[in-house]
Amino acid sequence: MTYVKGLRCVECGRDYKSEPLYVCEFCFGPLEVTYDYVRVRKDMTRQKIESRPHHMWRYRELLPIDGEPATGVDSGFTPLVNARNLARAWGVKEVYLKDDSVNHPTLSFKDRVVAVAVTKAREFGFDTVACASTGNLANSLAALAARSGMKRFIFTPSDLEYSKTIGSLIYQPNLVMVDGAYDEVNRLCSEIADKYRWAFVNINLRPFYGEGSKSMGFEIAEQLGWKTPDNIVAPNASGSLLTKLWKSFQELEMIGLVPTVKTKVFAAQAAGCNPIITAIREGSDIIRPVKPRTIARSIAIGNPGDGYYAAKVTRDSGGYGADATDEEIVDAMQFLAETEGIFVEPAGGATVAAAKKLVDAGRINRDGTLVLCITGNGLKTNEVIADRITMPKPIKANIESFEELLKKIQ
Ligand SMILES: *Cc1c(COP(=O)(O)O)cnc(C)c1O
Ligand SMILES: [Zn+2]
Repeated sequence: MTYVKGLRCVECGRDYKSEPLYVCEFCFGPLEVTYDYVRVRKDMTRQKIESRPHHMWRYRELLPIDGEPATGVDSGFTPLVNARNLARAWGVKEVYLKDDSVNHPTLSFKDRVVAVAVTKAREFGFDTVACASTGNLANSLAALAARSGMKRFIFTPSDLEYSKTIGSLIYQPNLVMVDGAYDEVNRLCSEIADKYRWAFVNINLRPFYGEGSKSMGFEIAEQLGWKTPDNIVAPNASGSLLTKLWKSFQELEMIGLVPTVKTKVFAAQAAGCNPIITAIREGSDIIRPVKPRTIARSIAIGNPGDGYYAAKVTRDSGGYGADATDEEIVDAMQFLAETEGIFVEPAGGATVAAAKKLVDAGRINRDGTLVLCITGNGLKTNEVIADRITMPKPIKANIESFEELLKKIQ
């Protein structure tokens, strides 16, 4: 049973059937999944949701699948960590970390979008799934497609972090490394998608893929006791996650599960790849592509597909945006590890650093609830902190050696 009505062009409103389409034939606008909200409102009650297992499919009425989930059945429902130490350090009343660095199975928020996209690929009858990726998407698609026995082609830039590459290869996909930045990989994949009948999860299945991100927003609202936060900060690559968080809050309000949404949405990027933040600062509708130069590889998209819509959400919600230099990113990673015991990748560092700037600038008020979206795990990007770490020298296995060391430490 499905609650999906079909696809609708975000720009001209033209309706399409639920098919592997992603741009409007008439105006080239992006397509978005629409639902029968009257039926959803009737069937998707708090009680029903709360009676279901703790994974992302507890919100299945608002996820675009027709049958049962085929993959990613255990993804989502990550902790919403009450970050008391961080809140105290910043002088903010309540700060929460939505911690997708421990998402199942590949430790990033991408497990949500891939869970939906691979299920959808099967429903549409594809036998091969593929993606253009900055790393985390590759890991997730390689893993979930392996589990569901599908053929898999993964395209990444050739200079990715070592652990992210290993994190894909272990699942034995066809990994194609492309000489060039993500934007070039993506362009190549669009061409391949036109030629081969493969399910490119973030190209021809993009409208469905994006819906998976909404589960992060649904969970945040449920974990806050069925209300949306006053402020939320999310990292931006293509801008998709941020727009879908907003959509998830709007939908919850529409079906009566949360009170009127007053959430301000804030965007975070790395200073070395900040086309969305620049547009927000300039109050401009135009996203000017940039050439990425940052250690935050997972969010290094120079020409973000949903950038215009992400900037618009920050504006419409009364939010804003901020970016962080590579040094600020690593400082923030270290700060989060020391205060809250959570090791995030640079995208998380960018989010924390940007949030701090927005608090200091008075854009985020100190009396409200603030949620920071933590989207990836630091163990996948060890190299960015390697030069800040000194390996301890081994001691002899006797108490004298230990006490000699202890004297030096104390
Ligand atoms: C993909 C990704 C994002 C955001 O991606 P969008 O394209 O903006 O949805 C954020 N953080 C991490 C770690 C990611 O891998
Ligand atoms: Zn259109």
